[in-house]
Amino acid sequence: MIEGGCHCGSIRYQVVGEAITHALCHCTDCRRHAGAPMVGWTMYPDSAVKIQKGIPKVYKSSEHGRRHFCGDCGTGIFYFNEQMLPGIVDIQSATYDDPNVIPARSHIQVAERIDWMKTAHSLPQFDRYPPQK
Ligand SMILES: [Zn+2]
Ligand SMILES: [Zn+2]
Repeated sequence: MIEGGCHCGSIRYQVVGEAITHALCHCTDCRRHAGAPMVGWTMYPDSAVKIQKGIPKVYKSSEHGRRHFCGDCGTGIFYFNEQMLPGIVDIQSATYDDPNVIPARSHIQVAERIDWMKTAHSLPQFDRYPPQK
């Protein structure tokens, strides 16, 4: 069982069973809603998720896409699309208490990826911040 929640703790959830997949999505809708270069999504049957605490707000991000987020702190948590993905919930994998539990398996929607994200793994890396002069 996996547990997770939003940044402020108003919303908490549990997930049981195996993830169908875990993809890093580069689409424009994910980027703009998250305010981040990409968003990790784990896919499950919607019966796999139980909300333990709180009620997410729902944002209609496209004709059928529904993004569920914390109305207090803004963390994006779930995505539903009854048209394209009936009976499926996508969970933002970075909201897991331990986001290492299910490694990402693919990049999707790279047709809309930010150009410099293609080689982001090769940028200089620092445990904290670059050395100060
Ligand atoms: Zn919150
Ligand atoms: Zn996306």
